[in-house]
Amino acid sequence: MRVLVTGGAGYIGSHTVLQLLAAGHDVVVADDFSNAKASIIGRLVNLSSKQITVYTVDLTDEIATEHVFASEEIDAVIHFAGFKAVGESVAKPLSYYRNNIDTAFSVLKAMDAHGVRQFVFSSSATVYGENPVRERTEDMPTSATNPYGWTKVMIEQILRDLAEADESWRIAILRYFNPVGAHVSGDIGEDPTGIPNNLMPFVAQVAVGRRDKLQVFGDDYDTPDGTGVRDYIHVEDLAAGHVAALDRIGTTDQPLSVWNLGSGQANSVLEVIAAFERASGRDIPYAVAPRRSGDLPAYWADPSKANRELGWEATRTIDDMCVDTWRWQSQNPDGFPDL
Ligand code: UDP
Repeated sequence: MRVLVTGGAGYIGSHTVLQLLAAGHDVVVADDFSNAKASIIGRLVNLSSKQITVYTVDLTDEIATEHVFASEEIDAVIHFAGFKAVGESVAKPLSYYRNNIDTAFSVLKAMDAHGVRQFVFSSSATVYGENPVRERTEDMPTSATNPYGWTKVMIEQILRDLAEADESWRIAILRYFNPVGAHVSGDIGEDPTGIPNNLMPFVAQVAVGRRDKLQVFGDDYDTPDGTGVRDYIHVEDLAAGHVAALDRIGTTDQPLSVWNLGSGQANSVLEVIAAFERASGRDIPYAVAPRRSGDLPAYWADPSKANRELGWEATRTIDDMCVDTWRWQSQNPDGFPDL
């Protein structure tokens, strides 16, 4: 298939591009490079030894989006493009709602006009909100605690309504848990702009000497060691989940499916620090700080639906995730170069 990957220059998008190419698909990337460096494309071409067609495009622009579909024979879309920083979404709600929802609209509208019906959506475990049941299953109700999360809840609802209205759609909603790790080459990985919001890139930057110490946000949660517990999933396992979902929606008769992509394993902040110290051979200095507003104590995936229906499972351990993150971070201490 010829697959349009929106946000294909981003962290999860770039790893998925490589796996799509390895599986024999053609890839068209559409990205505005607002949160990705152009130098990633050369690395993807080198790693895959394949051609990648790239459009530098703001997908909130309907005319520009339509142009991509008019220029390329697209069979399916994997939609990663979107703003993703929770704290920034609280400060700039209009920008988040506008960008994330308009991007989805332009892409879905252009797909509709061109008869493209296969759509894989990057959703998030954040749509489970504050459910007291820590092991998340796909049938739980959805809600959110910040504008970023609401954009995911809202786009999921738009997709359900679309699938209800026209049964020819084949939509996969993929709810990611905590993606970490990097390609085994160390040539691509997560390259956050500014101070990292997420745990793993922050830990990696402490290990490489870019930051003095980590703040552990709370050690008095109701968890085994008091620190927050999450389901970390290697980005390569996550990327494989997209390829499996794309295969699956090509044969299913269901207009819409929802799958958790998680490892099903639960690790605390202190366990992640210890794993990273083992992987890097460096000390990770940290200090306990107050809880971060909006954080939940603990949640993880029940990935059994994806395991069963996609024939997919996460195979990499927290140690693999740290080893691969460290290879990427130590080979690229400042992230991707400017072109
Ligand atoms: N965390 C932390 N220090 C940091 C960043 C995160 O202690 O600098 C904790 C956070 O409180 C949560 C876990 O690490 O328990 C994962 O946070 P992250 O932001 O990576 O992902 P989230 O699960 O919040 O989306």
